[in-house]
Amino acid sequence: MQVYKMLIDGKSVDSRSGEYFEVYNPATSEEIGQVPSATKGDVVEALESAQRAFEIWRDTPANKRAHYMHKVAEVIRDNIDNLSVVLTKEQGKPLNQSKDEVRGAASLIDYYAEETRRITGEIPPSEHQDRMVFVFKDPVGVVTAIPPWNFPLSLLARALAPALAAGCTVVAKPASETPLSTIMMANLCLKGGLPKGVFNVVTGSGGRVGEELVKHPISRKICFTGSRDVGKRIMKLSSEFLKNITLELGGQCPAIVCKDANLDIAVDAMIFQGFRNAGQLCNRVNRIYVEKEISKELITGLVEKARKIIIGDAFSPEVDMGPLINETQLRKVHSHVEDAIEKGGKVVLNGRRMSGGNYDKGFFYPPTLITGARHSMLVMQEETFGPVIGIREVRDLDEGIALSNDNTYGLSAFVFTRNLKDALYATRRLEAGSVWVNDIHGTYVHCPYGGMKESGLGREQSHFGVDEFLELKTVYLDLAEKNRGGYLCVH
Ligand code: NAD
Repeated sequence: MQVYKMLIDGKSVDSRSGEYFEVYNPATSEEIGQVPSATKGDVVEALESAQRAFEIWRDTPANKRAHYMHKVAEVIRDNIDNLSVVLTKEQGKPLNQSKDEVRGAASLIDYYAEETRRITGEIPPSEHQDRMVFVFKDPVGVVTAIPPWNFPLSLLARALAPALAAGCTVVAKPASETPLSTIMMANLCLKGGLPKGVFNVVTGSGGRVGEELVKHPISRKICFTGSRDVGKRIMKLSSEFLKNITLELGGQCPAIVCKDANLDIAVDAMIFQGFRNAGQLCNRVNRIYVEKEISKELITGLVEKARKIIIGDAFSPEVDMGPLINETQLRKVHSHVEDAIEKGGKVVLNGRRMSGGNYDKGFFYPPTLITGARHSMLVMQEETFGPVIGIREVRDLDEGIALSNDNTYGLSAFVFTRNLKDALYATRRLEAGSVWVNDIHGTYVHCPYGGMKESGLGREQSHFGVDEFLELKTVYLDLAEKNRGGYLCVH
């Protein structure tokens, strides 16, 4: 069994406790590696190493930081095969999707490498003669990054890349389910020449190690991507030091299908966004509101398309969908289906765990569609985080918007209509950080991403994303005669 190590101050280290936890392949339940359980002492060592590195990294010229980052992206791309195999083994997604994720992480690092050169301040007009005022942007300091297991590398890169661009250093704590690919990526960063201490990784199962990082005064910013409840806990813990936080939390994303929509396009897009990564996606289509005139046709289209999804061994090229991450997730998903049945919903496709042959070894749940969904059902209210979609008929677009917004989450929303006026009307009224109209695809790195309401705080990606790692500092400078010839002399 391969034993992995943490990365602290440029060195691969075991935990001081000498204890490890196991990582499993969710498709086979086989143990695939062991990882150290960090102690509080390990956490402090990682933070202190990041603090020392920060004093140097913050003053490293932007073009040099960019150079380091481009090199790191190149090394990650050069190692895409190894990295994606490990990612597929620990996360369960099909190999080609793991490769996409690795490419996505590298391209985020490349994008933010260029952003280093665009971090500029301002020189506002002075209100006094012979005086000047500057607004600088300072890096916030040591960053703690806590990503989830569903996209462990790309979501880590969403925090790591802008942090490095801003001049911050990072201590990351990967999810207990997916630490192996993160440790590999951190070592590739080191191989790519990133100075020691700039990016450290500590590991642990459960919330203990993450909490130690959040509570420690050295970490000045917390980037957390994960569930709403843990996000709220992190916000509470951060409040002791009034830390800067970015929270990318869950979603319960609605799709509205108007009667004039192109149904082929709507079906393809909703199947893609409802079931990719086995539905373990923050901005997946959870619930569909369809105008009743076209409801039957839409449901037929969705069932036909979803039936074609091939589920199984993520290393087979023809497979579209792998397992859920673990038994807990599988039970949660099925409990949402049971709740829907109890409340009068009709399961029109699948609706129970897959069994027989290799399916018995892993946590496979097939694409599931529920019609007659009611507003109170868990599939319409809570984050299922699995391949289940609830479908409800609505009178019109306004009813669809009202039901969409009557939810505590506000991450993403989707609208299908050929009427431009309705499309714009819906995009203005939907309470969501991103809205897709007539198509659904991955986010663009140069556009902001994040949630409203209980889906989070702050934005990632784009130039807005780097601002989250910068503090504004205003400097007033007196150049009057009385100061000439002294230390403020301007030649
Ligand atoms: P989670 O909240 O259980 O865990 C997320 C991370 O936090 C993991 O690394 C975990 O080990 C750590 N953690 C757990 N308890 C902690 C604590 N008390 N203190 C500090 N860290 C702690 O979430 P998950 O199950 O790993 O991921 C799924 C969730 O992530 C879903 O809610 C999903 O919507 C959300 N998510 C959001 C986005 C986004 O961009 N908005 C993207 C992907 C996933």
